[in-house]
Amino acid sequence: MRRPVLAGNWKMHGTRAENARLVDALIEASDEARCDVVICPPLVYLWEIGRQLKDSPIGLGAQDVCAEAQGAFTGEVSAAMLKDVGCGYAIVGHSERRQLYREDDALVARKFVAVQGVALVPILCVGETLDERERGVTEEIVARQLDAVLAVAGIAAFARAVVAYEPVWAIGTGKNATPEQAQAVHAFIRARISARDAMIGDGLRLLYGGSVKAANAAELFDQPDVDGGLVGGASLKADEFVRICAAAA
Ligand code: PEP
Repeated sequence: MRRPVLAGNWKMHGTRAENARLVDALIEASDEARCDVVICPPLVYLWEIGRQLKDSPIGLGAQDVCAEAQGAFTGEVSAAMLKDVGCGYAIVGHSERRQLYREDDALVARKFVAVQGVALVPILCVGETLDERERGVTEEIVARQLDAVLAVAGIAAFARAVVAYEPVWAIGTGKNATPEQAQAVHAFIRARISARDAMIGDGLRLLYGGSVKAANAAELFDQPDVDGGLVGGASLKADEFVRICAAAA
């Protein structure tokens, strides 16, 4: 039985006051026994929110990380720095990073390794664009994104990672994948990992992301290979996110 994970990606939203209210509400509703909940606020708020989460079961994650360990990389933040301010997780390869900031598979793989290098858990995002889905190359794209990380990090690294399938056409669009579409790609990802190591494949937690909300969460999370969600917009509303967490648990 894989323990569900619910990660909230706040993207570039929030103020200190709004964050404090949201985090208070999440702590109030948190239920340690049933699933792992992680919130990923903007970098500048990590330290303060980390302190607010202290003694709560809610984990802290970053939305991105630098692949380098330290040095002259203006504007960047290393995995060790994220760990230093209390993070346990970091998202790598989010489609907005891949598309808007031209991050390629090789860079994402290096970020994945950097995150694991300081014993944080990477949440590796993979997923196809609408054009790729319509051309019938979803599996090819997802395989390429996974294989790039496997080639650099090795299969054993996936025992300490979470993978999020996020079809790009479903992110922030209000148009989620159907449970069947999500399950099909999740089963594909698990099979690809299992082909290298059955035990790691079986234990790997696979999250679905793309317009998850309270109204569609249960049917998505009911799928056998969907072990939780990576939630954007809906993670900014305490009630909605708490209901999504309940659906995962
Ligand atoms: C995301 O940011 O990863 C995401 C899935 O966003 P949304 O839930 O808003 O589609």
